[in-house]
Amino acid sequence: MPEGSTDALAGRLIAGERRALAKAITLVESTRAEDRAAARALMAAVAPHAGGGLRLGLSGTPGVGKSTFIEAFGMMLVEAGHKVAVLAVDPSSARSGGSILGDKTRMDRLSRHPGAFIRPSPAGRELGGVARRTREAIRLVEAAGFDTVIVETVGVGQSETMVAEMTDLFVLLLAPAGGDELQGVKRGIMEIADIIVVNKADGPLREVAERTRADYAGALRLMRAREGDAPGFPKALAASAATGAGLTGVWDEIRALDLWRREQGWRDRRRARQAVRWLRAALERSLIERLYTDEAVAARLPEVERAVARGEMVPEDGADQLLSLLLGRIGGD
Ligand code: GDP
Repeated sequence: MPEGSTDALAGRLIAGERRALAKAITLVESTRAEDRAAARALMAAVAPHAGGGLRLGLSGTPGVGKSTFIEAFGMMLVEAGHKVAVLAVDPSSARSGGSILGDKTRMDRLSRHPGAFIRPSPAGRELGGVARRTREAIRLVEAAGFDTVIVETVGVGQSETMVAEMTDLFVLLLAPAGGDELQGVKRGIMEIADIIVVNKADGPLREVAERTRADYAGALRLMRAREGDAPGFPKALAASAATGAGLTGVWDEIRALDLWRREQGWRDRRRARQAVRWLRAALERSLIERLYTDEAVAARLPEVERAVARGEMVPEDGADQLLSLLLGRIGGD
């Protein structure tokens, strides 16, 4: 991207121009070195305008009703005058190159509404890179005036933790289930949830959903209190994405928790801690990248590997040698 045009792009984005926003996200998703430089300039230019959104993480296993929920919930919000951005993080697409939101018909009405912006998961091989791009996309949509940012992920482990570390509040969608299945929800995921929503509380499933909700409410009460838990949270609710029942209740609870956290300073503390964690992650990634792209290290690595394989050198000594080699070169730059 030519010099100066980053500022122009930032200006159009801040003015709320959708095409500029889409282009900006494409820029931060690019891994080309020259695009990275432009992306950093762009992020710096939009920085004073970012940070104003309510960042919601949303997760649930495939089939639980995430897209139906986001469509109904998102429509409710845009019709109330909110501007809603939906970003997706999909660890499986990180491998296949496809994406969970690639098919926008999953959120047909919302995707066509002028108050909404839907963006599929960035493709990428490693979770760290996907995380960086999604965090930047959050700030970009905020700078473009979106007040509610939903970051959706599929419930398959690692990606939830990552999404919880870039959002203010985490909502876990669950399906109505028998008591035994309660055990199936991983403890780690329960621990990051602020609000559990048992979806599909309609028709013949309504009663089961209500029982499931009560079971989870009980399970949540047994967990140890966490920093930033408002009285009564984490909470379990029942709702139906299909009929819309309970959706205003979900929004009311989200707003109540967010308001409480902002007033108590927890939201800013959480964001500050997240930023420090991402700094560490970036530091570790850059160091590893420098290590493996360093010529001297690359030249010596096979020899050290052979020595370690033959038992002539312990792995730790080999690591020390290679690291000293890198650090000596960095120091000599
Ligand atoms: P996702 O894979 O989590 O995005 O789930 P989908 O939104 O695609 O929904 C999976 C299936 O559950 C679809 O057949 C939906 O119609 C159905 N579904 C979603 N929400 C509800 C709900 O609130 N009630 C009922 N009865 N079915 C629902």
